[in-house]
Amino acid sequence: MRRIGCRVISGKEIAESVLDRVKAHTCSLAVDGIRPGLAVVIVGSDPASQVYVASKAKKADECGFLSIKHELSEDVSEAKLLEVIESLNFDLSVHGILVQLPLPGHINTGKVIQSISPEKDVDGFHFMNVGRLGTGVLDSGFVPCTPAGAMILIQRIHGQDLSGLQAVVLGRSNIVGKPMANLLLTANSTVTVAHSKTPNVEALCRQADILVAAVGHPEMVRADWIKPGATVIDVGINRIGVREAISGTTRLVGDVDFDGAVERAGAITPVPGGVGPMTIAMLMANTLSAACRAHGRSVPSY
Ligand code: NDP
Repeated sequence: MRRIGCRVISGKEIAESVLDRVKAHTCSLAVDGIRPGLAVVIVGSDPASQVYVASKAKKADECGFLSIKHELSEDVSEAKLLEVIESLNFDLSVHGILVQLPLPGHINTGKVIQSISPEKDVDGFHFMNVGRLGTGVLDSGFVPCTPAGAMILIQRIHGQDLSGLQAVVLGRSNIVGKPMANLLLTANSTVTVAHSKTPNVEALCRQADILVAAVGHPEMVRADWIKPGATVIDVGINRIGVREAISGTTRLVGDVDFDGAVERAGAITPVPGGVGPMTIAMLMANTLSAACRAHGRSVPSY
């Protein structure tokens, strides 16, 4: 039973609308012979990473981008990987570079990320882009794709200016929690960030007009943690076993108890079909932005 008036936010539909805009803008660039290019670098043969990289490449193709994949063996040296990135930094047909994480243990991930040109860092992990976001400069850098996508969902509900709203972000990772908090702050909401050392998380959550959950604990946020009418953005993706079904069967759930939360929230994202599809759409949007900037063109907004 869904609370009357609770809107289930379709990240899938909103991601499609972002991608439609990316495709249309890409077509308009093509008239002048400009084609956004995305290079994805993958090290090793981890099946999950292979699936992510394949879906990114497929989406890039669908958007009309040049899509380049560099596959390196598990035991590639750090020096060789840095060499590949350096060549992509100088390649004029490549506007966005993404190194699929995690990297094997013998490679210094931080060093690799910082070797990507900030102008091509479509994941938004380079210190230059982290700094731009931290200082509220959003028009020249790149915002990590998941929080960027979550922010679009929030702004479809509340508009661009979140003045007067209390936002609580559960989780402080560098790829989700911290950039999410910075985006919410830049949009004028009052932001609290909670993490594993925060006491009484439930009470904090109950004050939130906007609650973003990014902890990686299945259904941790219960219905009674939610302020009636709040907007709940569930970033979590957790695979759990299905007890009553055949053994080995699993399903995806978020960090929020959706069935309970939907009875109290004003708007909520489902898992799957919420933030997930936005992440890949924002990777395409960031790549297009990189191409536009490289050619002195205006960058579309979403
Ligand atoms: P991390 O494991 O890097 O960070 C989890 C954060 O949650 C940490 O800051 C941790 O605190 C905090 N935390 C853990 N337990 C608690 C608790 N009991 N109370 C409050 N805070 C807690 O995860 P990510 O940020 O990378 O990802 C979070 C979730 O989002 C995962 O489920 C992941 O799969 C999903 N995800 C989804 C994406 C998408 O496309 N939709 C993309 C990226 C991630 P502390 O810092 O103190 O350890």
